[in-house]
Amino acid sequence: MSKRDYYEVLGVAKNATEAEIKKAFKRLAMKYHPDRNPDDKAAEEKFKEAKEAYEILTDAQKRAAYDQFGHAGVDPTAGGGGGYGPGGASFSDIFGDVFGDIFGGGAGARGGSRAYRGSDLRYNLELSLEEAVLGTTVKIRVPTLVECDECNGSGAKKGTSAQTCPTCHGHGQVRMQQGFFSLQQTCPRCHGSGKIITDPCGKCHGQGRIQEQKTLSVKVPAGVDDGDRIRLSGEGEAGLHGGPAGDLYVQIHVREHPIFTRDENNLACEVPISFATAALGGELDVPTLGGRVKLKIPPETQSGKLFRLRGKGVRSVRGGEVGDLICRVVVETPVNLTSKQKELLQQFEASLNGDKHSPKASSWLDGVKKFFEDMRP
Ligand SMILES: [Zn+2]
Ligand SMILES: [Zn+2]
Repeated sequence: MSKRDYYEVLGVAKNATEAEIKKAFKRLAMKYHPDRNPDDKAAEEKFKEAKEAYEILTDAQKRAAYDQFGHAGVDPTAGGGGGYGPGGASFSDIFGDVFGDIFGGGAGARGGSRAYRGSDLRYNLELSLEEAVLGTTVKIRVPTLVECDECNGSGAKKGTSAQTCPTCHGHGQVRMQQGFFSLQQTCPRCHGSGKIITDPCGKCHGQGRIQEQKTLSVKVPAGVDDGDRIRLSGEGEAGLHGGPAGDLYVQIHVREHPIFTRDENNLACEVPISFATAALGGELDVPTLGGRVKLKIPPETQSGKLFRLRGKGVRSVRGGEVGDLICRVVVETPVNLTSKQKELLQQFEASLNGDKHSPKASSWLDGVKKFFEDMRP
């Protein structure tokens, strides 16, 4: 049976990066893995074929030999130092080995040659209430580890490449035989990375990543609230060894507003009104985030009364109805009175006839009276 081209098997270009090859294999493995396709010979063959291609193409030396000589240049059944060839390995071996490698299972067991996902980052973004409610775009600067552009993340000096470690053949682990026991140890030569950088990149000193300040434009959708967070996929730290980058979480903090407080979709504010307006009624301007609106105050309005302005609140970032603006009127006691004004008030006070002008006071006095009557033995 003639073999298919490894690049064709994985559906990648001849110059595909290791990350692209891994990604392609992962996709095929998810589809054809025997655990997902029990008793399906065709799927099993496809899986074996993909795994073989993956193993050859992710090994720098084998890949070079394959590129030069084709299938004749590599013998996949010979296996590397660990004997992981597809010929003899059981599926559990394959699962433990290759899948552990790709999916990051069993961390630490195989050392640094595994692709590591970069760390997630968190950025605290402070917004005004208006910005949160109406939405905005802000530029933020975040310190982050990015792939070194000098060596494209390989850590090796430009023009050179990391060599597969000859001691462990790139596995990052070596097997030691001690009596009956066979022990796995981290390779002492490459410290588990499976690769040796003889000529490290000057910019990142062989780390493959460099610290950088990057400027990001964050689109804050209208209606976000304190405590919400925005995920910027892939904007976290760069991964290691071809691993994907982490995510950046922008944590929203909404500053206290001098006028409004927010409760879910509703806004609330306090509206001071004069004693005369409260008694006689009137109309006043109240602020909303969309500008001023008129609020009608009926006569005999008591301090603390709530007025609801429908639709003058907030539409949540999660959608739904626009909330309301709740205005709580507070009657103000006049200050800095002239003697003339004081006189008028005294006249006014004298003109009041009993409790009938003070509904709260009269019911309060009734309550007090009842309280003392109840106390009487
Ligand atoms: Zn570098
Ligand atoms: Zn090694």
